[in-house]
Order: sequence, then C-alpha cells, then structure tokens
Amino acid sequence: MSPPIADLRSDTLTQPTPGMRVAMAGAVVGDEQRREDPTVLELEARVAGLLGHEDAVLVPSATMANQIALRLLSEPGDEVLAAADSHVFLHELGGPAVHSGLSMKPLAALDGLFGSAELLAAFSPPSSASVRSRVLSIENTHTEGGGRVWPLVRLNEVLDAARTLGLGLHLDGARLMNAVVATKLPATEYARRYDTVTFCLTKGLGCPVGALLAGGRDLVNRARRLKRLFGGAMRQAGVLAAAGIYALDHHVERLAEDHAHARLLADGLVRAGLPVDPDAVDTNIVFLHVGRHGMTAHAAQARLRANGVLLSLAARPETLRAVTYHGITAVDIDRAVAACARALLGSRPGRGPHAPAPIQPGISGS
Ligand SMILES: *Cc1c(COP(=O)(O)O)cnc(C)c1O
Repeated sequence: MSPPIADLRSDTLTQPTPGMRVAMAGAVVGDEQRREDPTVLELEARVAGLLGHEDAVLVPSATMANQIALRLLSEPGDEVLAAADSHVFLHELGGPAVHSGLSMKPLAALDGLFGSAELLAAFSPPSSASVRSRVLSIENTHTEGGGRVWPLVRLNEVLDAARTLGLGLHLDGARLMNAVVATKLPATEYARRYDTVTFCLTKGLGCPVGALLAGGRDLVNRARRLKRLFGGAMRQAGVLAAAGIYALDHHVERLAEDHAHARLLADGLVRAGLPVDPDAVDTNIVFLHVGRHGMTAHAAQARLRANGVLLSLAARPETLRAVTYHGITAVDIDRAVAACARALLGSRPGRGPHAPAPIQPGISGS
C-alpha cells in the first residue's frame, strides 16, 4: 500500500488544534448535571443566541440531540417525516422507532432537498383510523445529498407548508455552519423557525466531542430530563464546552477553506475525466459517481485506497464521498486528484493485480 496521501472519508477526522487543546486544558469546570459548570453554561447561551433560540443544551453527540428532539416533538405511534436519505433515517439505527416509538415516512428528495408538494404527498392527516404525521426533520446541509445547502426560499416554503399542517419542526443542523458560511446568511435565518435545532461540534468545527440541542426554554428544559434519561448527562463537561467555544471563535470562518478545497477537488477530478458533478458541490462534500465509469463503489474505493486516497461509500448506489476539513491542504488536494486519476483511469496503476479488501461500509454516514 502506498503511503496515505489524503484521508477524505469524513470531516469527523478533524484533529483538535493546539489552540483548542490549550483552551480545553484551562477550562473552568463544575458539575454539569447540577448546571454548575460555567463553561457549559456559556457555550449553551452562545449557541442559543447564534441560532436565534431561547436556550440550548450540550449533549454528547448530534445523534443524541436528534433523538431527544424527535422524542420531544412526538408521541409513540406518531410518524416522523424526513428525506429518505437523511441521517435520522439512515444512520441512527432506527432510533426514532427504538427511542420514541415512531414510524418513519421517507420523503422523495433530490440531493436531500424536497418541496412542499413532496411534503403534502407524504403527509398523513390526523384521523382516528390511520397513523398521523407529527414531526418533520430537515437536514441542512444534507450529507447524503452531497453537502447541499437548502435554498432559503424553498426552505421557507416547505416550513410554511409544514406549519400549516401542524407539524413539529426539527432541524438536523449537524453541518449548519457550512450552510451559513457558504451562503453568508446569518445562522438565525436558517435556524430560528424550527422548534428544535441540532448543532454539531465534531464535524468541520473540529471538536473531539459534543453537540447541542437548541429550542424554546420549556422544550430545552424537557430536553435536559431526556438527556439524563438517555444517559447523556455529564459532569465536568466544561473541558468539552471549552473546545466548542474555541471552535465558535476560531473555526467557523475557516470552513470557507474547506469549501474552496472541495471546489478544487471537484474541478480537478472533472479535468482528469472523472465522474463528478461540479454544480452539485455547495460545501465540503464531493461525490464521485464511479458507477458512470462502470465501476462498483467497493472496487473503486479499494483502488483509491491502494493509491493512498481514502474515501467513504455514499448511500446512493456506486458513489464515493470525499469530505474536506481542517488539516487537508490545497497541496493534499492536488496530490489526491493525481492519485485518483492514477487509481481509476489506470494511467499509472498504484498496485499490482490484487486489489486490497474493501473497507467495511459500516461506519459511514458521519
Ligand atoms: C454526523 C451527523 C449526525 C450525528 O452526529 P454524531 O455527533 O456523530 O452523533 C447527525 N446528522 C448529520 C447530518 C450528521 O452529519
């Protein structure tokens, strides 16, 4: 195997920076469960303000934030609506059914985005004899859609329709700041109209642990109880919150670099003759549609790996996903483009005839 050139499997691979580690080491802490950790309280207030909500609660993961939100906004037996390839449906192991007794209705979506027509078509009205749709979860940016940003006009049209239908509204904003940096719109524009918002610290923001769930004061207080129920209440979590505060101060604007690098990667791959849709690159995710070159995703992934480029499998068929993040440089991208061309177009095969075993598909979707 060649030495690794670029590990582009996910922005979850971001390492905490030296500055972040210093901030964590110096954090003033207390017992978070008693709400006595000043650093946690500061981060919660910061994120609530950023998103235009009254309050927010720190939890260990965005998955837990999503699952608490769905529990808050529904009763057992209700139905949650979301794009078919959304994280809550594909990558949370049936959590809506397991934790909240919800049935899951996938919406027809293109790149994770849909319109009010698709929402209306899927909606189950209240009736004594059928399941009732209760919650709509929207993902922005949309991971399995290729990091697409919801256009604000379209989003507001869907949110208007959902409110008219009486649905609770949840935003899975694991990569919300990528949408904010890409569009230069304030985060409140994208976050304030929902009942609950998940905000993740561990993707492009680069923290080692943590996410927040924002919403109105009463909902967030109920979320604090559910956090304890779900086993997510912590103790001196200020060490983690300090990383979050550091990320808000230092790692938001720099997401633009990740987006520029994704653009560089997409353009380079297209110039090399590889199957990428450059117009579909809104943020830090690039899809490589290897099926169009007659390859399976597993085979292409193995060949790339043998040439030092690590990509993950996307949910859609025969597609690989590359994600840029802090630590991946423009030089890495140039070398990755050359390695992809070698690996997939065979110009200078990196290995002999025996391709290595494919990476297990298990842990994608982050
Ligand atoms: C990564 C991700 C999550 C879950 O985040 P964890 O912190 O890994 O639990 C949820 N939603 C989306 C869209 C994600 O990308």
